[in-house]
Amino acid sequence: MYLVKSPLLLKWYYPSLVWNKTRTDKVIYLTFDDGPIPDVTDFVLKTLKTFNAKATFFCIGDNIIKHPAVFERVVGAGHQLANHTYNHLKGWKTDDQTYIENIQLCQQLTQSHLFRPPYGRIKKSQVKRIKTLYPKIQIIMWDVLSGDFDLELSPENCYKNVIKHTNNGSIIVFHDSIKAFERLQYTLPRALKYFQQQGFTFATL
Ligand SMILES: [Zn+2]
Repeated sequence: MYLVKSPLLLKWYYPSLVWNKTRTDKVIYLTFDDGPIPDVTDFVLKTLKTFNAKATFFCIGDNIIKHPAVFERVVGAGHQLANHTYNHLKGWKTDDQTYIENIQLCQQLTQSHLFRPPYGRIKKSQVKRIKTLYPKIQIIMWDVLSGDFDLELSPENCYKNVIKHTNNGSIIVFHDSIKAFERLQYTLPRALKYFQQQGFTFATL
């Protein structure tokens, strides 16, 4: 069970996290979680290039080590790297020390000012530890979850989710993962085309 639009209650409970950017400008922030993955990430890079769009990649450290050439292509294309832990840990089920060490491992590879907790699940104590260790890091959530990871969701409905819920300053979550690929392949080029026609530009966080 997941919500396409982030609920206000969560935003209120975690005010120090970033849920969206300014609503005044026609800018969208595309984010891709869980890569780098051969073929899937390359598809994303190719599609972004077609639309002259820059995006933010929340990489899993373990995938960077497994697929260094793909990672280098993300870096080479000028996209923003971001930390998504080394082993995609669930914050609610992980003790704070283990969680922080896993972020540090990934941070050695990404050197980023951005972190997103896997599954969007993080304890307040972990938020505090991160902010103490890395005072400049921003913890990035989202306001639009594409649902591309949902095997029950049709590609067309994934596309409609994204179109319906995106506003100025939206942070949209996609996944460059094998599981998401079918819906991602369908949705990403269509959504980019639609938003471009609407006058939006695409920026990194
Ligand atoms: Zn993830």
